Amino acid sequence: MDTRAIHAGREIDGGVGAVSTPIYQTSTYRQQFPGDESGYVYSRTSNPTRHALETALAELEGGRFGFAFASGLAATNTVMNLLSAGDHLVVGDDLYGGTFRLFEKVFKQFQLTFTYVDGRRAENFAGAIRQNTKLLWLETPSNPLMHLTDIAEVAKIARESGILLAVDNTFATPYIQRPLELGADIVVHSLTKYLAGHCDMVGGAVVTDKEELAERIGFYQNAVGAILGPFDSFLALRGLKTLPVRMERHSYNARKIAEFLKQSPLVKEVYYPGIDGKPLPNRMTMAGGMVSFVLDAEMDTVREFVMATSVFILAESLGGVESLINHPATMTHASIPAEIRKARGIDDGLVRLSVGLEDVEDLIDDLKGALAASEKRMVKKG
Ligand SMILES: *Cc1c(COP(=O)(O)O)cnc(C)c1O
Repeated sequence: MDTRAIHAGREIDGGVGAVSTPIYQTSTYRQQFPGDESGYVYSRTSNPTRHALETALAELEGGRFGFAFASGLAATNTVMNLLSAGDHLVVGDDLYGGTFRLFEKVFKQFQLTFTYVDGRRAENFAGAIRQNTKLLWLETPSNPLMHLTDIAEVAKIARESGILLAVDNTFATPYIQRPLELGADIVVHSLTKYLAGHCDMVGGAVVTDKEELAERIGFYQNAVGAILGPFDSFLALRGLKTLPVRMERHSYNARKIAEFLKQSPLVKEVYYPGIDGKPLPNRMTMAGGMVSFVLDAEMDTVREFVMATSVFILAESLGGVESLINHPATMTHASIPAEIRKARGIDDGLVRLSVGLEDVEDLIDDLKGALAASEKRMVKKG
């Protein structure tokens, strides 16, 4: 994986010998004769920098076909283009807020229907399947509660029912978990997060190993046109090269922080895979860089807490080298109605950390300081 991350998609430019894939900032390409389609024709359809990224993404996820998009949601939207009015989906309920909004506010208009199930038990997906179910959709670890789903179990259910399974692998990345190898048909990513890894671009990806699906996704990528530009493709390719070393450090730092939070009397609950002493299920090789936890305090105190850190930056998004802190109820998950948030366990006291690559002792000191600042207004455990 370490070698692949650095070399995947690389083709040394014959003319110049550039070791790094150049940014082909061009919209169109010269033809040798009218209608010559032997090479690149138009950059919505294909572009060499994007192609290098798409090849690399496919290789890292263990599929043959990769597609890069203008955002993670553009990638999700393109997968949804595979469906038709009247189709039904079963979706793991702890879901990225924007994905939920896309399903509920956009695709419901096109007569698609959705059933949300607790993704921690694979049989919940089976139980919600109807005659018109065409796609199962899940995130694992999920956002923000870090629920884990057994991808292989859900893939088995999908296969037996002749239904497609799509997995949003943004939180884990292919360094930690490869859904296609566990039987998923489609992997979706927000490249914005760990894959590009530096909070400096927005992008998305779809990978599949199925030729028939790849043909249709490629068609919609070109027909709908939400493609990733050459410069952003370059940034994502650059980020991919250090994915393995970054994920090792993200996971190391996040585990240390989860352990610190777990022993703090001010923290009611910590969500981090494996922190409960159980081994990591799901064939994940490590637990990644996202940690969520619950403070037993009023909304105002929690908001004050997330504003009191100095190394952790108060911001949405995740997966960059810098540590971020987020209050899901009023930030990333505010697009989910309050009563649905509550029913799904997204407490007003929930805080989500994207643990970066800084010195972990500095990060822990930063959290200690912020906790101490509002300690008087927080309820202690026990
Ligand atoms: C951010 C995110 C998305 C959406 O990606 P964008 O690049 O912001 O459009 C989808 N799924 C997950 C898990 C995410 O974190």
